[in-house]
Amino acid sequence: MRRELFDIPEGVVYLDGNSLGAPPKHVAERMQEVIRHQWGTRLIRSWSEGWWEAPQRIGDRIGRLIGAAEGQVVVGDSTSVNVFKALMGAVKGTDRTEIVCDESTFPTDGYIAQSVATLAGLKIRAAHLSSLDLTDETAVVLINHVDYRTGALNDMKALTEQAHDAGAQVVWDLCHSAGVLPIELDALGVDYAVGCTYKFLNGGPGSPAFIYVPKHKQAGFENPLSGWNGHREPFAMEPSYEPDPGIVRARVGTPDILSMLALDAALDVWDDVDLAELRQRGLALTASFREHVEKLTGLEVITPEVRGNQISVRCPDAKAVMDELIARGVIGDHRPPDVLRFGFAPLYVTDDDVIRAAEVLAEVVSGITR
Ligand SMILES: *Cc1c(COP(=O)(O)O)cnc(C)c1O
Repeated sequence: MRRELFDIPEGVVYLDGNSLGAPPKHVAERMQEVIRHQWGTRLIRSWSEGWWEAPQRIGDRIGRLIGAAEGQVVVGDSTSVNVFKALMGAVKGTDRTEIVCDESTFPTDGYIAQSVATLAGLKIRAAHLSSLDLTDETAVVLINHVDYRTGALNDMKALTEQAHDAGAQVVWDLCHSAGVLPIELDALGVDYAVGCTYKFLNGGPGSPAFIYVPKHKQAGFENPLSGWNGHREPFAMEPSYEPDPGIVRARVGTPDILSMLALDAALDVWDDVDLAELRQRGLALTASFREHVEKLTGLEVITPEVRGNQISVRCPDAKAVMDELIARGVIGDHRPPDVLRFGFAPLYVTDDDVIRAAEVLAEVVSGITR
C-alpha cells in the first residue's frame, strides 16, 4: 500500500513485521533532528518543550488506532510492565480469588500474571478461551487479541461480555493487532488494554509500549509502581505519593525519549490510513499466502479463518527451513517446536512478496525434505 515510505532492502521479502516492524524512511531524519537540535541545541529546555508530555500525546495518537478517545492511553515501559500495572490495578481491593489467563498466551503475560497472583494472594488458572468457566471467584481475565503462535483472532466483543457477565474485568493484550485492524476499546467497554509498538506499529526495536485505562476507571486505578512521573505534581517533589487524577497516573519513571520520539515519527505513516481498508488488505494478503502455500508446498496452515495478519505453517525442521528462507531473502520467523510464522504488514507487503515467499518456501521444503 505504501511500501515506498519504508526502508526495506531491494530483493528482500519482509514477513516479520509482527516481530519487528520495518522503519519508515523519514524516522532516521527525524532522529537526527531530535538528537542534534532537541537534545543538542535545546538541551534540558526540551523537557518543557514537548518531552514531558510526549507519553500522553503519543498515547492519544495510538488511541485513535484502537478506538480510545483522548486521555486514556499513555506510552511508556514495556508490555510486560504494563501487563503488571493493569492486572495489579484490576485485582486491587477485590475479594475474588482467581486470575484467569488464556492458556495459549504469549509467555510473558502468563509469567507476569503469576507474579501478580502471588503478590496479591490470588490463584491463577490457565483456561482455553472456548471454555473459560468464569465464576463469581474470577477477578480478571487476561487475553491476547491475536494468538502469537497461530495467528487466531479472538473475539473481543464476546469475550469482554463473557467476563462482564461473570462480574469479572478483562485485560486485552493488543501486541499483534494494534495497527492492523479496527479495534473499539471504548465502544466495547474494555477494562484495560496494553500493547507494544515495535511490531505492526513500526516504532523501532524496544520502542515503548502503551496502556489503556478508560476514563471511568482512572480514579480507581492504583498504579502498583508509584513513580514520580505519575504524581499529581511531580515537580513539587513532595515526600508522599499523590497520583495524577487522569491517565498520567499510569506513568512510572522518566520516559525513554529517543525511542518514544522515533515511535512518534513512525506513527506519521498512519495519519491518513483507513483501518477498515487496511484490514481488507491484510485479509487479502493472508488469504493469498494461505492459498499459495497449500497449493505449492502441501504443508499444513494452522492459522484459522478468523485471523490477524499472520499465517502460521506447520513444518518439520522449522528452524532449518526458516534459516534457508532467510538466506534466500524471505524473512519470517519460527516458533518451537514446528511452526513457521509469516506476518503480513499491510502497509508494506506487496502481492508479489506473497507469491515469491510461497514459491521460495516450496523450493526450500522440497530441497530439505527430499
Ligand atoms: C510481543 C509480545 C509481548 C512483548 O512483551 P515485551 O514486554 O515488550 O517484551 C507481550 N505480549 C504479547 C502478546 C506479545 O506478542
